[in-house]
Amino acid sequence: METVLEIKQAYKAFDGFVAINDVTIDLKRGEKHAIIGPNGAGKTTLFNLITGHLKVDRGSVTFEGKEITGTPPHRIVKLGLARSFQRINIYPRMTVFENVQVALIARDGRSFHLFTLGHALNRDESAELLALVGLSAEAEELAGELAYGKQKQLELAISLASHPSVLLLDEPTAGMSPPETVEAIKLIEEIAEARGLALLFTEHDMGVVFGISDRISVLHHGELIFSGAPDRVREDPEVRRVYLGESHGAA
Ligand code: ADP
Ligand code: MG
Repeated sequence: METVLEIKQAYKAFDGFVAINDVTIDLKRGEKHAIIGPNGAGKTTLFNLITGHLKVDRGSVTFEGKEITGTPPHRIVKLGLARSFQRINIYPRMTVFENVQVALIARDGRSFHLFTLGHALNRDESAELLALVGLSAEAEELAGELAYGKQKQLELAISLASHPSVLLLDEPTAGMSPPETVEAIKLIEEIAEARGLALLFTEHDMGVVFGISDRISVLHHGELIFSGAPDRVREDPEVRRVYLGESHGAA
């Protein structure tokens, strides 16, 4: 299987505190790969190192065969590595449609100072992305007035504007009700399938993790202690120790 994303010997410390300790991990094309681990394990830091929001002290990140270590986040997005953040990242006073349109205009390198003129741009693709995430009916609503779950759907449409081959999702269902979680995961899976996207994601809901992952990796105190098939992770003695000792019954 072809590797789309590869992190080699990544190391990151904050004022002497080692948050990521020589982590080597990869993502195959189309793969659904979960990163789990107790709070503070380093999951979000690892994502920030991949997306360029933080710089590795040592090690490398390679995406689609190209080393991207030290590349700024907006360039990395343009290369096709997209990310959805834990917090919502939309323009609340614009309509749902305009939010997607702005993302597409920005992707094409156009300025949206001229947004009044830009209204004619990317309309078909905006509509297509909204249909893909199931928001066609809400296109003219103000983004800030959507229910939380729908704002996350919008955020997903925005993430897809760059035609990514990889999508990083940091706790995509955080703050969602159980029905919203089920819907969101179904949608993410459908879109990954439809667009041949590889997913690297963190998620606290173990039902979701075991339900959709091809592979699960476990971080603990910044170190990768396991990476393998879902049916093997539960049997791993070190994983059991971490979860049974620190995070009751999570695994
Ligand atoms: P997770 O996402 O697995 O909960 P994080 O990556 O957010 O963990 O954090 C890992 C560790 O690194 C934590 O102990 C956190 O306090 C620390 N950390 C994260 N970002 C910073 C930062 N910018 N400065 C200092 N410490 C940080
Ligand atoms: Mg986190």
